[in-house]
Amino acid sequence: MNIAVVDDTQVNLLIVRKHVELLGHTAVTARNGVEALDVYTRCKPDLILMDVTMPEMDGYEAARRIRALEGGNQWTPIIFLTGLGAEEDLKCGIEAGGDDYLVKPVSPVVLAAKIKAMQRLLDMRAALVETTRKLDAVNQQLQRLSDLDGLTGIPNRRRFEETVLVEWRRSARAASALSLAMIDVDSFKEYNDYYGHLAGDECLRRIARALQRTLLRPGDMLARYGGEEFVAVLPATPLSGGLIIGQQLREAVIALGLAHAKSAAEPHVTVSVGIATIVPDYAGSPEMLVAAADEMLYRAKHNGRNQVHGTRCGSCATVTAIPREAA
Ligand code: GH3
Ligand code: MG
Ligand code: MG
Repeated sequence: MNIAVVDDTQVNLLIVRKHVELLGHTAVTARNGVEALDVYTRCKPDLILMDVTMPEMDGYEAARRIRALEGGNQWTPIIFLTGLGAEEDLKCGIEAGGDDYLVKPVSPVVLAAKIKAMQRLLDMRAALVETTRKLDAVNQQLQRLSDLDGLTGIPNRRRFEETVLVEWRRSARAASALSLAMIDVDSFKEYNDYYGHLAGDECLRRIARALQRTLLRPGDMLARYGGEEFVAVLPATPLSGGLIIGQQLREAVIALGLAHAKSAAEPHVTVSVGIATIVPDYAGSPEMLVAAADEMLYRAKHNGRNQVHGTRCGSCATVTAIPREAA
């Protein structure tokens, strides 16, 4: 191990350093808390043996700052070596972020044992971090292979693309109308910026559940299209029906009553919805339906958000807009 030895007394520094080296480790030294921080950032030692009472910055403060600098997966054991032997000092040391506490003069045998114990903990921790990393990688792979979106648990885009193609062909065969709703959360960047990313994630989960509850017919399917966009496939649904469902989806999100102080639309979370309907033929593809729904979504955004716009694809496209009701 590379061990940092921090002490303002030269003779202590030399003695502890010698012990450390005799145990087969390398040592870097520092003479106060400020130097200890510098050694920590430059050398990333595996273990720190830290005196408490030192000029400029004491060991407790240095330990606190080191803990504050450590990232999520980092941990550098800190053992205080000090002349202060009171119980209260021990408590302060542990609370400052220390992992153990030895009262000077430290016996070489005790020091060797403590270093060994810390090394064992470090090895176990490294093995745990590695196992977690492997588990994460496997989970990510499973998620990729699966049809479900990791955040919301609803079908993901891959599944949507498969489903919409099947529904396209089925509708073409039956000469029946297929509708698609693109749903995008309004001012969601501002929501994240203001409430934080974790709150943003929770908001997306709740929106997904609310949208899903609204789709009652067995053939209907809701998916996360990406980011804060959802898509609903509505088989056997003409434009009139699609617009009604679009309104219900929009209202379901309003009914959640989630505050959104920075929204460009309303002081609560809202969505804009673009609907496109087509009676598919074998020559066309679902991409044109997605593109048309996207265009309607763009209009809903452009017109002020929190509203539903729809179009019937084909040669004589008609656009219907359902304006949002007065807030
Ligand atoms: P508009 O009303 O025009 O749709 O504006 P907007 O801010 O919603 O749209 P924009 O595309 O600028 O920003 C979308 C934001 O959604 C940006 C990104 O931070 C956030 N976002 C996308 N995916 C996730 C996610 O999985 N979790 C969280 N928390 N935020 C996400
Ligand atoms: Mg948005
Ligand atoms: Mg978007």
